[in-house]
Amino acid sequence: MYNKFYQFVCICALLFAFVSCRTSEPPVLAPDPSVISYDPPGATTLTKELNPQHKRTIGFQSHGVWVSNEFDGGRLNDFYHISDNKFRAEIYPENAPINRSAWFAFQIWSDQSREIEIELTYQDGQHRYIPKISRDAYNWSVIDSSHYFHDRDSQSALLKIAIDEQPLWVSAQELFTSEHVEAWLDSLTTLSYITMNEIGKSKMGRSLHRLVINETDDPIAPMIIITGRQHPPEVTGSMGQKAFIEKIISDDLIATEFRKIYQIVVYPLVNPDGVNEGHWRHNAGGVDLNRDWKDFNQEETKAVRDDLLKLKASGVEAYYSLDFHSTSYDVFYTINKDIPTSVPGLTDRWLAGIQSRLPDYEIREEPSGVDPPIAKNWMYKTFNQADGVTFEFADTKPRDEIRDLAEAAALSLMDELIKIKK
Ligand SMILES: [Zn+2]
Repeated sequence: MYNKFYQFVCICALLFAFVSCRTSEPPVLAPDPSVISYDPPGATTLTKELNPQHKRTIGFQSHGVWVSNEFDGGRLNDFYHISDNKFRAEIYPENAPINRSAWFAFQIWSDQSREIEIELTYQDGQHRYIPKISRDAYNWSVIDSSHYFHDRDSQSALLKIAIDEQPLWVSAQELFTSEHVEAWLDSLTTLSYITMNEIGKSKMGRSLHRLVINETDDPIAPMIIITGRQHPPEVTGSMGQKAFIEKIISDDLIATEFRKIYQIVVYPLVNPDGVNEGHWRHNAGGVDLNRDWKDFNQEETKAVRDDLLKLKASGVEAYYSLDFHSTSYDVFYTINKDIPTSVPGLTDRWLAGIQSRLPDYEIREEPSGVDPPIAKNWMYKTFNQADGVTFEFADTKPRDEIRDLAEAAALSLMDELIKIKK
């Protein structure tokens, strides 16, 4: 009996040693051109579990302080009183692993006017966004730098804020949720040549909108495609998209001439669930939508794809695609120069036109291949090698400069696209 048990233990130990060795060996993998270096290792776009965020108001009766995440875009997972005037906010992502884009947004108020300190701490992430504050969720200001400390060692932040009976919003960026986007889209459809349609629903049942700007008499007029907000915290990308479109529908001579030739098809809010649920990166399926343009595992990417394929089947040709995003600096992610496109050199001429309109602006262009499963590359492959860009605006870019860049970009692109039809 003893011998048999001893034998069993030895076999287990040997097996364990074998398995341990196997797993400690570095895996030898061929480089996969569709993997983007900053993505979490092994990321796929198969639907994953979300960690629930409980929507609630937390009160500290004895201190007379109240905090809430009960609004669209809210993200606050827990809140503690630490000592005297000091509180700690805990912020978690929708799931992990996840990119470094720790969104937060909450409302806070108190029975009596007072100044408090809030430590912002993160799970599976680190502090990134300089807090914005607002009394009405429409007009925002950046927190005073003397009231904000980014602790890079602990990857947290400390805020000092004055609160009173009137709720104060504290948010990673200005709130630009589906409500704000829809109000803007509604205001555009007062123009006779702009139509808005629902192309489908998000995973949680929110509307996915398409805007068509077509002042030609031709339903199959040549098209440029605009997509936005695949990544929820990327508000400066949304601001850029808005200013870009507003330039296209302006009374500017280039714009009126452009609209006689081209139509513009816009999917302004591809990830409404992520935006309204206060996600850091993913949709309600728990994945990065801008990695799902090959497998199409998610409702939102499928809806945009199917809508564009219908337009293609009706005979519409795309000449350029723009996908609006944000990162820590302005950058134009373009297509490698040795890859053929339907209008050779269009991106180079477009960027040169931006430069001539903004002589002091330093253009940063980072071209890459068309393999990764992102929106721009699907547009390229689907629409006869249409050129395109992933257009990134810096998180911290002054908001008036976002408009300047987006307007210069719109004017330059319209100018170049008019030339190829002359
Ligand atoms: Zn992005």
